[in-house]
Parts: sequence; structure tokens; C-alpha cells
Amino acid sequence: MYDLIIIGAGPAGITAGIYGVRAGLNTLVINGGGVGGQILSTYEVDNYPTLKGISGMELGTKLKEHADALKVSIVDENVSSIEKAEGQVTLWKVTTTKGSYETKTIVIATGAQPRKLGAPGEEELTGMGVSYCATCDGAFYRGSDVAVVGGGDVALEDALFLARGSKKVHLIHRRDAFRAAKVLQDAVLAADNIEIHYDSVVENIKGVDEGEVNGLEIKNVKTGQVDTLDIEGIFIAVGTKPNTDLVKGIVECDQAGYVVAGEDCRSSEKGIYAAGDLRTKALRQVVTAVADGANAVKSIETDIVGL
Ligand SMILES: Cc1cc2nc3c(=O)[nH]c(=O)nc-3n(C[C@H](O)[C@H](O)[C@H](O)COP(=O)(O)OP(=O)(O)OC[C@H]3O[C@@H](n4cnc5c(N)ncnc54)[C@H](O)[C@@H]3O)c2cc1C
Repeated sequence: MYDLIIIGAGPAGITAGIYGVRAGLNTLVINGGGVGGQILSTYEVDNYPTLKGISGMELGTKLKEHADALKVSIVDENVSSIEKAEGQVTLWKVTTTKGSYETKTIVIATGAQPRKLGAPGEEELTGMGVSYCATCDGAFYRGSDVAVVGGGDVALEDALFLARGSKKVHLIHRRDAFRAAKVLQDAVLAADNIEIHYDSVVENIKGVDEGEVNGLEIKNVKTGQVDTLDIEGIFIAVGTKPNTDLVKGIVECDQAGYVVAGEDCRSSEKGIYAAGDLRTKALRQVVTAVADGANAVKSIETDIVGL
């Protein structure tokens, strides 16, 4: 029986593992896939302090090495369910594809995933001009023309963020009006280097043969006209999907599916803590995920161990 089971070995889960072991908790990390999580799919991470310009793969390796050095146990299994252990109020049963474990507490750190457009070229050019994170990759496109796809708050925030450094931002939205906050819409309309393409969808992301984005074909859904934009980067902001199926019906989630939890990572259910991208928060980054991993274990020490 474990004091703490952490589900997910991205930045949040690994940090929770490190803090758990150092707090003397009998800790197990269960992760399906490579250690490092989403960051493994990015070419370069430029905003994590002290590791400027590190590749996503290398950051994943460093996370694993650090966990191994502190003897954090990590098993490569997919968790299929979480439930209260029979007849127990403070014990949880975690079932995986290979077996089951009992634990006093759970940190759920299963992350989130950006929604894809499904456009030709998108998959091949991800990390080579196609990005799902303007905060992460915007700085690589200073002085260039870029595109942002989406019509919600994140898309408009991304467009405004990119407009500060890029030469021109094309904002592509499939409808004739944005659903973003009015204040963001006003700011976008006032920016002289943001061009809005309403009623438009991405037809093709160009550059697959060359190995990097070098243009974008967009189609006006009302007129059928196809235009080619001369851009070097495309930022897709059509939403993210939190990986919270495991805790649906157990803890409170918001409308978009994120676990409702603050900086202390406590969920609505005693014994379950949410760390990283899957919880309600303003900024989903490595730096905030690792902070969550540490804070979650601090809450566990306070709640369970009484420290
Ligand atoms: C393309 C891209 C580029 C990015 N670039 C940057 C950047 O430059 N800088 C930055 O700070 N942030 C960047 N981010 C964001 C950053 O990667 C995330 O904020 C961070 O990885 C979140 O960490 P996490 O631990 O919450 O979750 P994740 O990294 O998503 O890790 C979750 C882990 O849980 C595992 N898991 C999920 N479900 C289960 C299950 N049922 N059973 C077992 N395991 C499970 C997953 O396989 C994964 O290993 C980028 C994200 C993407 C997608």
C-alpha cells in the first residue's frame, strides 16, 4: 500500500515524485508513454529557467534522470480507473492495464492535449512552424509574418502577444464574429499589424517537402475563394482537452473538463490532488506544472501526514 500514487510523469508528476520521495512518502509514479509528457513533442524549450534552448526530448531525459537519482519508482502502465477501495473511506484503488494498487492519496497529473485542426501539413510540420503554444514558441518568429487560428480568448490573446514581436499576424476565424471577451476584440481591432480573416478555414499548411512552414492556404467558407498567405509560423488555438476522464464523477471539474483546484492542488475530493495542465489555471507551462507538483505534495503532507 502506497502513501502516494502519482498518475502521469510529465513535469508535474515527476516533480510530485521527487517531492514525495524527499518527504519520506512511499511513492509510486504510474505513467503511460514517455517520461516528460507533452514536452517531448516540442523541438525547443526556450523559457524554462536555466535550461535555455533545451530540446523537449532532452528535458524529458533530464526529468527521468533526476527522478531515477532520487529513486522515484516509475512504472510504465496506463491507468484505467480510480475508485475508493472497498469498505475504506480514505483508501483509493488505482487500476491499470497490468494490475491494481492501493494508496492513501493520489496526485493526478495526466496533463492536457491541444485540439488539432486536422489540416493537411499540420502533423508533419508540428514543431517546424506549426505550434500550439504562442507563449512557448512566439519568440522564434520575431520580425516574421505568422498566423493564428481560432476565435476564443486564447486565440486573440495569442494574436496580441505575437503582434508585439512579429511583423504581421493573420488571425483566421471560421465564423463572422469572435466569441472572445470584448476587451480582447477591441484590442485586436485596434492593432495595426493584425489582419483578420473572418469566415475562413485552413485548407493546407505549406512546406511539408521543405520541412518547415512556408505558407498557408485559407478558404473563405462563404465565397469559396482560396488565398495563400506568406507566413513562417502558424499558431493553432482552437482549444485544449484535459485528460480528466479518470476522475470524472469523482472530483469537481469545470465546463471545459479541467479539475477545479487552486495553487494548493486540492480537488473537491479528500485524498485526490490535481497538478499541472489538467487543473484550472491561467498559464499551462512547464514552470507552472513543476510548481504544482511541489505544492500538491506540500498539501498532502499537511492533510495526511499532519506536517
Ligand atoms: C507542442 C508543445 C510545445 C510546448 N512548448 C512549451 C515550452 O516551450 N515551454 C513550456 O513551458 N511549456 C511548453 N508546453 C507546455 C508544457 O508541455 C505543458 O504545460 C506541460 O508538459 C504540462 O505538464 P503536466 O505534467 O501537467 O502534463 P503532461 O506533460 O501532459 O504529462 C502528462 C503525462 O500523463 C500521462 N498520462 C495521461 N493519461 C494517463 C493514464 N490514464 N495513465 C497513465 N499515464 C497517463 C501522459 O502520457 C503524460 O506522460 C508545450 C506543449 C506542447 C504541446
